[in-house]
Amino acid sequence: MFRELMTYDNAKKLLFATLDPQPLGSEKIPLLKAYNRILSEDIITKLDIPPFNRSTVDGYAVKADDTYESEENKPTTLKIIGTISVGKCPKIQIRKNNTVETVTGAPIPEGANAVVMVENTQKQENNLLIYRAVTPDENVMKKGTDLKKGDTVLMSGQLLGAPEIGVLAAIGVNYVNVLKIPVVSVFSTGAEITEPGKSLAPGKIYDINAYSLSTAVKESGGKPIFMGVIPDNEVALKNALKQALFTSDIIITSGGVSVGPRDYTPKIVDSLGKPGVIISGIAVKPGKPTTIAFIGNKPVFSLPGHPTSALLIFYLFVRPVIQYLSGNKVISEKIVKANLAVRLFSAKGRKTFVTVKLSRDKNQKILATPIQTGASGAITTLSKADGFIEIPANQQFIDSNEQVTVTLLKNKKV
Ligand code: AMP
Ligand code: MG
Repeated sequence: MFRELMTYDNAKKLLFATLDPQPLGSEKIPLLKAYNRILSEDIITKLDIPPFNRSTVDGYAVKADDTYESEENKPTTLKIIGTISVGKCPKIQIRKNNTVETVTGAPIPEGANAVVMVENTQKQENNLLIYRAVTPDENVMKKGTDLKKGDTVLMSGQLLGAPEIGVLAAIGVNYVNVLKIPVVSVFSTGAEITEPGKSLAPGKIYDINAYSLSTAVKESGGKPIFMGVIPDNEVALKNALKQALFTSDIIITSGGVSVGPRDYTPKIVDSLGKPGVIISGIAVKPGKPTTIAFIGNKPVFSLPGHPTSALLIFYLFVRPVIQYLSGNKVISEKIVKANLAVRLFSAKGRKTFVTVKLSRDKNQKILATPIQTGASGAITTLSKADGFIEIPANQQFIDSNEQVTVTLLKNKKV
């Protein structure tokens, strides 16, 4: 297949222009499974919250008027006519100069409009001495002050975290409609690739990419289907990919996209349907042979085999697509400014990405030090890298000490 490298910007544009903007629709799921999902409906409460006037303290429910003259050395005396507990509706009616003992969270009985804190009272058999006056509504949370029946509590598009899930529980919701998340099948290819856990025959290496990329899918909000290694022949590859098109929204393969005699992934992907391969090589370093296809409306990303390149291209091209298809705003990457430790050269005519490690120099300034790899395949690069910087295609180098923007790959405190 003839390769004309597409610029990074054009590849991104074409990718997003070809994507079906329709999100994947929604599904109803139990509330406890809704963490980190995006709500696909407005939530309107059918209840007032709280559903009744309730006490916010342990103490005594009173008519506020009856306490007006209470002072530290001149307490008012009321008659205790009963006790209220939480979870029940009090049958007691409070009349003038009466009170009932109550607790935090219990309904305010009819006739009462305030609660005196227990700390400001003294019990003497059936009488209560009150040492501090209360005003109407004092220590009472009134029905509907938190949420009113008919209020829109949460809006479609909202990300659900602990507070939102708490609010849904508060209004009695136990199932919610959320946007579906893209299902992403992840394959490795190559005759040398062996499943971890099996013994390693001479000339073989263990599979990294299906593991790192499946995890990266999860980190990006997608649902990975781990497919492991596809046997190294064209028929097996074609059948596996065909199958995956039925069960997933996105497919990722790695390996077999270079120009070796067995690098037939792009050809096979292209034969699966229309429009087929739309991007066949990108002017980036690393990751030049990256191939992107669409079969119908499903994107198929064929990433290079080198683990560092594969993961970097994932972050640059696949992750935004997963976020976009989730109906999520494309979450901007976390970035930090740092000073470059050494002069760095770009690959001629290609946007160059360099993995870096972050540290502090003696003046506490953040320093970005490129990770020496030798080859983009060195797996240790992945675990050493805190992030990456980019050098534009038209720029020859970035000088040492120049300020650079580092896109973070992990959450590390520098
Ligand atoms: P390829 O893109 O297939 O030419 O692979 C480039 C390099 O990455 C080769 O050294 C492969 O052995 C290696 N490689 C390819 N796939 C994987 C994988 N899944 N895990 C680890 N290394 C891989
Ligand atoms: Mg290979």
